[in-house]
Amino acid sequence: MQRLQAFKYELMPNGQQARQMRRFAGASRFVFNKALALQKERYERGEKKFGYAGLCKLLTEWRNSAETAWLADAPIHPLQQALKDLERAYSNFFARRADFPRFKKKGRRDSFRYPDPKQIKLDQGNGRIFLPKLGWLRYRNSREVLGTVKNVTVSQSCGKWFVSIQTEREVEQPIPHGGAVGIDMGIARFATLSDGTFYAPLNSFKRYEVSLRKAQQAMSRKVKFSNNWKKAKARVQKIHSRISNARRDFLHKTSTAISKNHAMVCIEDLQVRNMSKSAAGTADAPGRNVRAKSGLNKAILDQGWFEFRRQLDYKLAWNGGYLIVVPPQNTSRTCPCCGHVSADNRQTQARFECVECGFEENADVVGAINVLRAGHARFACEVSGAVGPPAAGTRRSDSGAAQCRA
Ligand SMILES: [Zn+2]
Repeated sequence: MQRLQAFKYELMPNGQQARQMRRFAGASRFVFNKALALQKERYERGEKKFGYAGLCKLLTEWRNSAETAWLADAPIHPLQQALKDLERAYSNFFARRADFPRFKKKGRRDSFRYPDPKQIKLDQGNGRIFLPKLGWLRYRNSREVLGTVKNVTVSQSCGKWFVSIQTEREVEQPIPHGGAVGIDMGIARFATLSDGTFYAPLNSFKRYEVSLRKAQQAMSRKVKFSNNWKKAKARVQKIHSRISNARRDFLHKTSTAISKNHAMVCIEDLQVRNMSKSAAGTADAPGRNVRAKSGLNKAILDQGWFEFRRQLDYKLAWNGGYLIVVPPQNTSRTCPCCGHVSADNRQTQARFECVECGFEENADVVGAINVLRAGHARFACEVSGAVGPPAAGTRRSDSGAAQCRA
């Protein structure tokens, strides 16, 4: 089977290259924003939006016009790629998968992508990569790149530049081992499995929360754009990157452990919007741990859940397994013993006790068992619906959902 994989390294550009990369990222952002503004106007006037080809024509005009001639200094492919990104953002919006595309801001996820492998040369022996209009760039060669290069993304984060090399290679179809398991995601426990094991949440954020707040306060006291302000800002960014590194590490360790030992993993389709709503609760039923769920913690967890699911999805596929996403319906209120559904079954956050048959268990484990059941049902539905086992890397959850909505 084909395996797509990205390998990411820190770049070590010289001064000229760093300047160029800032310019290229700026040009990509400019093109994206200009095209978005245009599409927005048309949308508001009720006109049909430009297609990708139409936008590319406009891009050529911009590169040729005196006003924006500096765009011609940037490589053309990454600029076209920015238009493609906008196209995708638009179709996600129209398919109701995402909000209306937003304008890109300077310094926030600056990046640009080279889509044409013919223009990219990778010299692993010397730890360098050749990119159009940048020349040979050195990178921190921490591991071997496997497979043939498909595209390359250059990005900036916290003052450092990174290169992500996407490759494709043929690997043997793996044979999954282990059984099926359901997962319940939560705040007190990051993930609880239907077999009773659980993963505690990452608590290092608490330590960072204090230093982050202090750094932010220090920054707010400085004169904006002064040298001291810039220094303080760099400190804030550094703490942010530490937090995200710790989170990434935690998510990878957890998703690897689970995907290695199970052939089928079922997980609830959690929506961030529902999560944020439930944190505060309603007047009748105020939420628990509102503080823990709001603010920094919540932001981290919200991102963590989606990233965790994404990692589980591709890691399971690499190991020959499946991720099954089930709708979150009554998973926390259904008794796994007698099937009785009632909110009264869950008197406290942690404890489940069936009012019908008296079955008792940790509430998260009950949730996980119900998720597993729902996953089994969905899997059976996929097979009987003649939707063969999905190919690795495809969106199993989507295809399954389409077939099962009977
Ligand atoms: Zn019961």
